[in-house]
Amino acid sequence: MNVAAGRAIGDQAVAESAIMPTYARYPVTLVRGRGTLVWDAAGREYLDFAGGIAAMPIGHSHPAWVEAVAEQAATLTHVSNLFSTEPQEELARRLTSLARFGRVFFANSGAEANEAALKIARKHGLAAGPGSERLEVVALQGSFHGRTFATLAATGQPAKHAPFAPLPEGFVHVPPGDRAALDAVVGDRTAAVLLEPVLGEGGVVPLEPSYLAFARELCTERGAVLMFDEVQTGVGRTGEWFAFQRAGVEPDVVTLAKGLGGGLPIGACIAREELAFGPGEHASTFGGGPVPCRAALAVLEVIEREDLLGNCRARGAQLTEGLRALDLPGVAGVRGAGLLLGVAFEDDVAGAVVRALMARGCLATEAGPKVVRISPPLSVSAEEVERFLAAFADAAAATMAKEETGT
Ligand SMILES: *Cc1c(COP(=O)(O)O)cnc(C)c1O
Repeated sequence: MNVAAGRAIGDQAVAESAIMPTYARYPVTLVRGRGTLVWDAAGREYLDFAGGIAAMPIGHSHPAWVEAVAEQAATLTHVSNLFSTEPQEELARRLTSLARFGRVFFANSGAEANEAALKIARKHGLAAGPGSERLEVVALQGSFHGRTFATLAATGQPAKHAPFAPLPEGFVHVPPGDRAALDAVVGDRTAAVLLEPVLGEGGVVPLEPSYLAFARELCTERGAVLMFDEVQTGVGRTGEWFAFQRAGVEPDVVTLAKGLGGGLPIGACIAREELAFGPGEHASTFGGGPVPCRAALAVLEVIEREDLLGNCRARGAQLTEGLRALDLPGVAGVRGAGLLLGVAFEDDVAGAVVRALMARGCLATEAGPKVVRISPPLSVSAEEVERFLAAFADAAAATMAKEETGT
């Protein structure tokens, strides 16, 4: 997301709003959603290929999800983590069985899930004792891990750091996919290597499975923890429950958030048994509450029952092939995995293309100035994909024509 204020909504509306202008909002107020569709206040329908920023795996207001959330809200909403609740226990069992390892800490967002992972890295790094501490975390240039102080420091985007320096120290950034660079920095000061299997906000940049395997080897050999930030790629987005399963590389820690609650805020940090927090080491008042956990269980159930992993792979292939076949001028490439796709343009036109799409009744998001990110619900239909492709061809052509004439 671009964060410059007042781009689309207009200075007047920003000035009148009681909300801090952290987001440059589109001039559309959405009021209702169902499946892949959303409607604005004027009753206009949109195909939602933004999906709340890759956060709606089963679409809007799926009846099974609505029923589960309503029933849980009417039964037990909040008791704090001083008590155990059945939805949280069940979700933890479900997630560790899907991941095939670990224990879970529940948070309320992606940044918080990563903050937990970074505290686990620090704990691991201090365990070697005085003089042998491992205080560094290696992450990637262009990565995105959140907006809290530590996750911002982990984020490999200097422009986002600048207004808030000094940030927590000890983060080292290397170019994505560069084995020699990784080899050079992972050593006896490294507590952890933190990677997004597909860099999401950084422009939908998939990392090669062989690179992830190389990172795994380095970490194992040199005593560092391998952490995958699957806040965007998890919960089926790439066609497997976790992107690490697609790559066949198992991390020691994996974080989830975006898609997990099907629209409700929840984050999860899954860590190997020996890395798990102990009593008093971490906490959250709302993390893993009964309603978001019940929502997440409904999401996982629907994905399984409706074979949305299979649909994600099939629709992802249809979209990728369809976008490539459009053979649009000004497009440098189509990349990604499953239903986390990016159309990379040669110029900074992503914002213009997204607005042109919106004018044609389709929502998508920007992932940097050159990349249009496409992340519809995993339940998207073949016919919806075809409609989107037609709108995309038209929107991109209109944008490129405008660029050429400079209007
Ligand atoms: C969105 C995102 C985050 C931050 O999640 P929030 O819920 O906004 O805090 C962290 N990591 C990745 C990979 C993300 O895509």
